[in-house]
Amino acid sequence: MENLILECRGICKSYGRKEVLKDLNLTIESGKIYGLIGRNGAGKTTLLSILTAQNPATGGEVTINGKPVWENEEVLKDLCFSREIVSSTQNGIAAMKVKNYLKAASVYFPYWDQGMADELVKEFGLDIKKPMSKLSKGMLSMVTIVVALASKAPFTILDEPVAGLDVFMRRKFYQLLLEEYSNTGRTFIISTHIIEEASDVLEEVIMLHGGKILLKENTQELIGRTFCVSGLESEVDRAVRNLKTYMPERTGRGKRVTVVLNSGEKIDETCDVTVQPVNLSEVFVAMCNETEAAYEK
Ligand code: ADP
Repeated sequence: MENLILECRGICKSYGRKEVLKDLNLTIESGKIYGLIGRNGAGKTTLLSILTAQNPATGGEVTINGKPVWENEEVLKDLCFSREIVSSTQNGIAAMKVKNYLKAASVYFPYWDQGMADELVKEFGLDIKKPMSKLSKGMLSMVTIVVALASKAPFTILDEPVAGLDVFMRRKFYQLLLEEYSNTGRTFIISTHIIEEASDVLEEVIMLHGGKILLKENTQELIGRTFCVSGLESEVDRAVRNLKTYMPERTGRGKRVTVVLNSGEKIDETCDVTVQPVNLSEVFVAMCNETEAAYEK
């Protein structure tokens, strides 16, 4: 697959007086599965819709290999944004039968794979004769997943694809995603707030917070340098002296903190402390909490 680079430079977005994205820079190289994580209202949908030219930025530019995506069909053919169908009454979709919704997608996406769409519909047990308004939240999620996978777009973006799915279907989705990724090397950006189950699938994690990219890093490397240190307060303080700490919690004389080690940094394990690994949700909570006060001013 062609080596494409999707780039955001100086992206700003305001809705009225509310500034949602603030001079945001982001580079997405092809051939990876990215996870976009951020709290509700952080601006994930806004960012993804700007990336795919479905929403104009207030400032800045999005390009693929240097070419602007805005109103540029030559570039847009490489992008699919399968957004969450929040309400089945949205945009006149309600009365549409599933098969007509998929038909419209097949016309819209130039690399559409009908065979794959048919297989996925079967696998998910979707009734294509049903109107969209009669689908459950989970079924609507499945439709967005069918569209995303069958679009075969080199850059495929899914906004909260698993939000409506139960744990079995979430697993099924990640399995299908990995299969498609290993067969084609397509690039996927998946936004989700259900972080933990996704952490094995997401090669890189992008954290959006306070209108900016707080972090973009290989998921396993990030988890590998983050630890929870606990013990007596005095020992913990000694073990992490000179380190930036997140989420301090005190209980009596005990304390626990989270540390994200930069290269060359070490926890002093000669102190009487317990050092434990953390999972991706904990890294996220720690890092976002820390910056909360500063951003909400
Ligand atoms: P996320 O996807 O991370 O939950 P969104 O991008 O949907 O965040 O929203 C970010 C912020 O922008 C929220 O405060 C939301 O209320 C606001 N917002 C989103 N879309 C609009 C819109 N069309 N008009 C006004 N405000 C909006």
